[in-house]
Amino acid sequence: MTSGARPIRNESRMKHIAKPVKIGSSSVGGGPFSVWAGPCSVESLAQLSTVAEAVKALGGAGMRGGLFKLRTDPTAFQGLGREAYDIVKSVRLSSGLPFVSEITDPRQIADLHDVVDAFQVGSRNMHNYALLKELGQLKKPVVLKRGLSALFKEWMLAADYLVRGGNENVILCERGIRTFETATRNTFDINAIALAKREAPFPILADPSHGTGDAGLVPAIALAAAAAGADGLLIEVHPDPSQAKSDGFQSLNLLEFESLMRTLPKLLAALDRKMATP
Ligand code: PEP
Ligand code: MN
Repeated sequence: MTSGARPIRNESRMKHIAKPVKIGSSSVGGGPFSVWAGPCSVESLAQLSTVAEAVKALGGAGMRGGLFKLRTDPTAFQGLGREAYDIVKSVRLSSGLPFVSEITDPRQIADLHDVVDAFQVGSRNMHNYALLKELGQLKKPVVLKRGLSALFKEWMLAADYLVRGGNENVILCERGIRTFETATRNTFDINAIALAKREAPFPILADPSHGTGDAGLVPAIALAAAAAGADGLLIEVHPDPSQAKSDGFQSLNLLEFESLMRTLPKLLAALDRKMATP
C-alpha cells in the first residue's frame, strides 16, 4: 500500500446494532429520530411550560433542562436546584413529556430520581467515576455526554462503568470537543456519530447547541448529525434567548426550533428514516 490509510477489515465495517433505550414514554435508538429539547437552565414555570408546548406541538420526544448547572465562572447562575423540582414535576405532568436533566453529584440521586426520567452526565463529569459507579447501580437511563477533551475510547470506557455496574440503559451524547479552533465554542465531532453507530452498543444523541456554541450554526449541525446517523438531538431552546440565564447565545428561539423540526423529517425521509412518534 502506498497511502497511509489503515486497511479496512470487513468485520469493522459491520454496523453495530444498539438496542433502543426507553426514557419514560419515549425512546432513543432503534431507527426513529427523537428530539429532546428545552432550555439550558430551567428558570420558571412560565418558561418551561412555553417550551414544553412547542416541543409537544412540533413532535419532540421529550424535554431537557438543567437544574444543577456546572458553570465555569463561580459567580454565574448555578441553576435553581431543588427549587425547580415542582416546576419540572408540573410540566412533566401537564405535557406528558419525559424529562432529562443533569446530575452533578451522587448526593442528588435520592431526590432527583423521582423528578427526572433520565439522568444526564455532563461533559465536565464524564470522568467522575464515583458518579458513574453510583448511576451504574440504577436502572434509570443515563445520557452520557462526551468529556470536553475525551478521546472516543475514554468515552466508551466511561460508558463501561455504567454497564459494569448493571445499568445498560446508556445513551451517548456527542457535544463537541476542544480543538485548536476558537472560532466556535467547540468542534462538533461528526466522525464520532458515525463511529459510535459502527462501534458502540448504545444509541447516540447529538447536541449541536454545545457542539457549536452559536445558535446560527445549530440547524446545520443538527441536520448534519441526523445525516451521519445520530439517533436524535439534545438541543437548547428558549422562548427568549436574549434573556436566558445560561447559554442564550446557542439556544434556538421557538421559531428557529419550529423551522428545524419542519426540515428534519424531509432530510430523514431521504435516508429512509422517520421522526420518532411521541
Ligand atoms: C448542558 O447540557 O446544558 C451542559 C452543561 O452540557 P455539557 O455538559 O455538554 O457542557
Ligand atoms: Mn447549556
